[in-house]
Amino acid sequence: MDIRTGNGYDVHALAEGLPLWLGGVRIESEIGCIAHSDGDVAIHALCDALLGALALGDIGKHFPDTSDEFKGIDSKILLRRTMELVGNHGYRLGNADITIAMQRPKLAPYIIRMRETLAGVMGVPVTAVSVKATTTEKLGFVGRSEGCEVFATVLLFSNE
Ligand code: MG
Repeated sequence: MDIRTGNGYDVHALAEGLPLWLGGVRIESEIGCIAHSDGDVAIHALCDALLGALALGDIGKHFPDTSDEFKGIDSKILLRRTMELVGNHGYRLGNADITIAMQRPKLAPYIIRMRETLAGVMGVPVTAVSVKATTTEKLGFVGRSEGCEVFATVLLFSNE
């Protein structure tokens, strides 16, 4: 059996009055991500980790933000399509671990729903998906709420 690991990283700028989607869940917030898609920066980092594990490039290559097809798209669709690619290459997800760095709002109340939502889209048990949230102690662009930053790591197993 072959195993592969991948990491993903994404940042989106934040602005007042935009919807905030993270981990496939709508978060109550006065600020949201500026984006071509729904701006779900957590799913974007996760997709990049999945693609990276199989050296398939990145999310921008597969779902270009210059394409009208992906304008305002629900990022869960991008995750589903990424998982189809993973499956077509003969791999399945072992586990995923995601860290969201955001100063506000508090994300703790949403963590379990994000895990359940992502696990549902990827067709894995919720125990295979970890979501963690941290502030940056008001330091840097995250600390000033100018942006949201996400790191994702995945482990894939081959189906043979
Ligand atoms: Mg993105």
